[in-house]
Amino acid sequence: MSTQVRRNTLADGRDILFFQDEDSTAAPPAEDHRPAEPRPTGGQLRFDLLTGEWVAVATHRQSRTHLPAAAECPLCPSAPGRPTEIPVADYDVVVFENRFPSLGPSLGAVPADPRQKFAEAASESALTAPAHGRCEVVVFSSEHDGSFADLDPARARTVIDAWANRSRELAAQEGIEQVFVFENRGEEIGVTMNHPHGQIYAYPFVTPHTVITSARAEQHKRETGRPLLGDVLDFERGSGERMVLESAYFSAFVPFAARWPVEVHIVPHRQVLGLDELDDAERDDLAGIYPEVLRRIDNLYSTPTPYIAAWHQAPVNCADRSAEWMHLEITSPRRAESKLKFLAGSEAAMGAFVGDVSAEETAARLRAASPALEDGRR
Ligand SMILES: [Zn+2]
Repeated sequence: MSTQVRRNTLADGRDILFFQDEDSTAAPPAEDHRPAEPRPTGGQLRFDLLTGEWVAVATHRQSRTHLPAAAECPLCPSAPGRPTEIPVADYDVVVFENRFPSLGPSLGAVPADPRQKFAEAASESALTAPAHGRCEVVVFSSEHDGSFADLDPARARTVIDAWANRSRELAAQEGIEQVFVFENRGEEIGVTMNHPHGQIYAYPFVTPHTVITSARAEQHKRETGRPLLGDVLDFERGSGERMVLESAYFSAFVPFAARWPVEVHIVPHRQVLGLDELDDAERDDLAGIYPEVLRRIDNLYSTPTPYIAAWHQAPVNCADRSAEWMHLEITSPRRAESKLKFLAGSEAAMGAFVGDVSAEETAARLRAASPALEDGRR
């Protein structure tokens, strides 16, 4: 089984890709007849000398669309007299370049650590680079209402194929060091459009989180000969206390040291570095277990749970490929029906988390949460 992809270009030159379900009835891509507006010029990266991290500054994003009503939604299909970002009357899954990108559209390399250059001659230019990279939007459905949890397995599979395609192609672009596939869901965590969609950031550097986790995975591999996440997977499956669901090729569990009131990791049983390495059977299996985990998270409360779903793929040029193991981390700050966890002093300033609930308790609640829709909620 392979998902069909068709490519086109929007009026302002951005790429758009149409991924079609196996039994698709969607129309073929059409031309974008909107007047070509100039694209925002690229932002800036500024280097934080104290932490060694690049910070992206994209001031043009202040003017981006904020919570449009369905009739104004730029992700809905185009209709006569109402052109949207997607110039067709119906579609399955669409990926296009973000109109207000944090990174890009320029591509190229940025220095890994400009500290030495700064030490030789302190200047702002030593600490600044163009915000190279690429930001894409992944639209899961032409229906304005709904979420990833509502997708049937065939559609979820098309989305997974789109993620795999983009991960592979973006990793091959000039200067790209890491491809991050993610979904922010819920206004509570800053979502500016409710239409079911996710995003992809292709960074010109390895992200601060991944710098830490890759170094630890490499150290563990050197010392034990085993990939770290494989040991974690064995530990969680062996204990069982924090397991939420297990399918043929994936395990979903609340990690032992969960930071968030709701946190679930979905880990493939086979060591793969990225989404494009998943085979057909694994993709079909993921298309079942992932929406089911999301439905259980939604059923914890009477209204949809805000979450961030983050694919941790290996960096493009990682030092030791045999140490890496892709996985998904889903986190939510919701700690009660009407309460959110805010990152305060210890977490925000020091990065030291203080949890409000135990991982075992969260896992038990998720095991008990019915994956089925209940009395029309959501
Ligand atoms: Zn919409």
